[in-house]
Amino acid sequence: MAAVREAAELCQLVQETLASQSLEKTDRSPVTIADFGSQALICSRLRQALPEDPIIAEETSEILREEEASEAREGVLRYVRFLRPDASSSDVLSWIDYGNQQEHTQRHWTLDPIDGTKGFLRGDQYAIALALIVEGKVVVAAVGCPNLSLSAFGDSKGVIAVAVKGQGTEFYRLRDMELLGDASVTEIANPSEARFSESVESGHTSHSQSALISKLLGIQKPATRLDSQAKYVVVAAGDAEIYMRLPTSRRYVENIWDHAAGMLIVQESGGQVTDTLGAELDFGLGYQLARNRGILVSNGKFHGKLLQAIADTTPED
Ligand code: AMP
Ligand code: MG
Repeated sequence: MAAVREAAELCQLVQETLASQSLEKTDRSPVTIADFGSQALICSRLRQALPEDPIIAEETSEILREEEASEAREGVLRYVRFLRPDASSSDVLSWIDYGNQQEHTQRHWTLDPIDGTKGFLRGDQYAIALALIVEGKVVVAAVGCPNLSLSAFGDSKGVIAVAVKGQGTEFYRLRDMELLGDASVTEIANPSEARFSESVESGHTSHSQSALISKLLGIQKPATRLDSQAKYVVVAAGDAEIYMRLPTSRRYVENIWDHAAGMLIVQESGGQVTDTLGAELDFGLGYQLARNRGILVSNGKFHGKLLQAIADTTPED
């Protein structure tokens, strides 16, 4: 929790000072100095506390080490120093690379230092997502959402959801780590009353298929579009009943850091998480969910009907 909170502080500083120009990764997705700074802070803290634990994180320092990236490198260092005044440039690069584990091990962490970078760049929703995986099962999770407000807790902006397997989910105010009361998934059992959330990016989920599913199930309310694992948090806290991630291509395979923490937060709030074919997510295969296809999250009251509607609207090959 402390690591995620500290990283969130760095992200907020970067977002406020509009220093969030992005670089482009080899897969053309954007990455900002806050992605690197967040990963450096969290990985260094984990390494200090739990030196034996490998970390499978989204970023590597590779593009930051390039000669042309000197401005970005200095930017990352400047922001990390707000929180770690003694950090050197080489410290920061090596902290980032503590997260370079890729293979599955008996016990490891997974980190998305900024999930929803596109939302972050727009000033909208993003999340810092950290989870511990032991023997292929997610057992501890923290998701920090600096720009998220949940109706269960009034207008307070900025939450961190924390879950331990078998012990439930708790919600804290990010600013001061005050415990915000209880929240859980809703009891809504009639899909026509359900609210659903989905990605802003039409490349990440099929908006046209979700519209068909809504029609099929008589869902009245329009989808709420949010970036990042904030979607899991919103279902866990009862502000939506459904989060669907409907594949837009046959090739894309989901990464574990986009789902591990969010999944446990929802399950420990009483909700259900599977892929779009109804299978459990398999976190025992390294950095990808190689045996799963898409994601379906719900409050658990009509999951089977959702799976049926997905099957009925999935285009033939
Ligand atoms: P979201 O904010 O829910 O749209 O998810 C952001 C995440 O989507 C990023 O962290 C990427 O890892 C992931 N992503 C990138 N391309 C795709 C794709 N084609 N389908 C699904 N997810 C993707
Ligand atoms: Mg992500």
